[in-house]
Amino acid sequence: MSDTSFDVIIIGGGPGGYVAAIRAAQLGLKTACIEKRGALGGTCLNVGCIPSKALLSASHHFEAAGHHLASFGVKVGKPDLDLATMMGHKDKVVADNTKGIEFLFKKNKVTYIVGAATIAAPGQVTVGETSYAAKAIVIATGSEVTPLPGVEIDEETIVSSTGALALKSLPKSLVVIGGGVIGLELGTVWRRLGAQVTVVEFLDKILPFNDGEVSKQMQRILGRQGMAFKLGTKVTKAHRKGKHVTLTLEPAAGGAAEEITADVVLVAIGRRPYTDGLGLETVGVKIGPRGFVEIDGAFRTSVPGIYAIGDVVGGAMLAHKAEEEGVALAEMLAGQHGHVNYEAIPAVVYTWPEVASVGKSEEQLKAEGVAYKVGKFPFTANGRARSMNESEGFVKVLADARTDRVLGAHIVGANAGDLIAELVMAMEFGASAEDVARTCHAHPGLGEAVKEACLAVDGRAIHI
Ligand code: FAD
Ligand code: NAD
Repeated sequence: MSDTSFDVIIIGGGPGGYVAAIRAAQLGLKTACIEKRGALGGTCLNVGCIPSKALLSASHHFEAAGHHLASFGVKVGKPDLDLATMMGHKDKVVADNTKGIEFLFKKNKVTYIVGAATIAAPGQVTVGETSYAAKAIVIATGSEVTPLPGVEIDEETIVSSTGALALKSLPKSLVVIGGGVIGLELGTVWRRLGAQVTVVEFLDKILPFNDGEVSKQMQRILGRQGMAFKLGTKVTKAHRKGKHVTLTLEPAAGGAAEEITADVVLVAIGRRPYTDGLGLETVGVKIGPRGFVEIDGAFRTSVPGIYAIGDVVGGAMLAHKAEEEGVALAEMLAGQHGHVNYEAIPAVVYTWPEVASVGKSEEQLKAEGVAYKVGKFPFTANGRARSMNESEGFVKVLADARTDRVLGAHIVGANAGDLIAELVMAMEFGASAEDVARTCHAHPGLGEAVKEACLAVDGRAIHI
């Protein structure tokens, strides 16, 4: 094979694309990955998961220093914000991570091509003047911010998540449009650092895709932390005046409009698939009504030899879902039997406390007419949580009323994002709540709350 001829060419170096590339190369396929942003890792590493978590960690420490350490007998005085150093920490974490992927490409002999790819024909990809041939082409081009008509993003006063990760100074006030994951995570960062944050959400609850009890609990907790909410409200207009923005708000159900002014507005109403410049119309790859690339159960698009994975195909727009698809597709291309269990994909919101979920919510089970039992255990009754001063939240396990199989789990609490892994594993193995309840958990550990919630499914929790 020549330098421009490959078994697999992957377009997009995000968590879907780069993981697919590494797995394909591990399996002996001659693989290239084309990425146009000049750095590997996609949205996730460059302007998503990693920088947001770097700022969440840094701002968590800032808040702890100012509000929580004294209760442990650690007196530090009023902390000063050094935003430049905080942003430097974030930028370094991003740079180290993206360079790490380049290293992994070299180690696994993946050819990294920098540039914008266009699919000229099945089996043929062009980058500028160069044409590449491949037996399989994988579209892993991800997603972009969904714009809000009337609220034009300039990434300075009206920002997307990308701008909100790089503000040069602390805004006095921040209005977040959208009470979903990005709104609450980045709203939390800036609230901790001192901004007055108001979240405007179209629906009548925040985190609308979570279990209803979780949404309610998180609104209470975040409200106590100082975040304000305007639910059932839509933004119809933005007007910039000097350094401020005035938004016109209207009740979603109709009624009198009001105005709200802020230093910075964050638009976080979701993300949409990104396929610009790929030439999909020319080659005839079918796109669904909401712009997602249509695929079958084996990631095949409507054109033989062209596949798609990750955010661009829809479903949960999460990095680990994209990664699972990348691995499964690479294995299929190598003649193996890759598989993704979409029933057991966890989702985590990295506020504090964290919110973690897997499987069905109570609302979904009710709508599907599934008979279920609920086991719930509060962190107030967990010794480790109390010793950490982290007793907010609960573990809630939903199990099939007849078979006791775990159907869903929802955690609000410290380290919920790590605790959920046990219940994801339980669902992957088709475990019952009893299986988890009979598993020995180290004491004292936050994980004991998971065991107790599983015991509670059968009405036999010990510590409550
Ligand atoms: P992307 O990561 O979007 O990568 C696609 C890549 O393709 C991009 O780098 C793009 O430049 C490139 N590309 C596009 N077109 C072309 C072309 N024609 N030629 C060459 N290259 C091209 N998910 C989580 O699971 N956990 C989190 O904590 C989390 N936090 C997030 C925080 C924020 C602020 C945001 C915005 C997202 C977050 N996400 C998180 C979502 C996560 O980033 C995405 O689900 C994930 O990046 C999707 O991976 P992907 O490979 O499908 O696409
Ligand atoms: P989201 O879908 O999580 O939330 C968008 C929110 O905006 C919803 O609550 C929706 O009802 C609301 N909304 C929609 N239109 C509105 C309008 N006109 N006015 C007011 N509210 C409106 O989307 P997001 O927060 O933008 O995040 C985008 C994607 O990135 C998500 O798919 C998410 O999974 C992913 N992400 C994941 C993580 C994580 O895993 N921790 C973190 C950040 C982002």
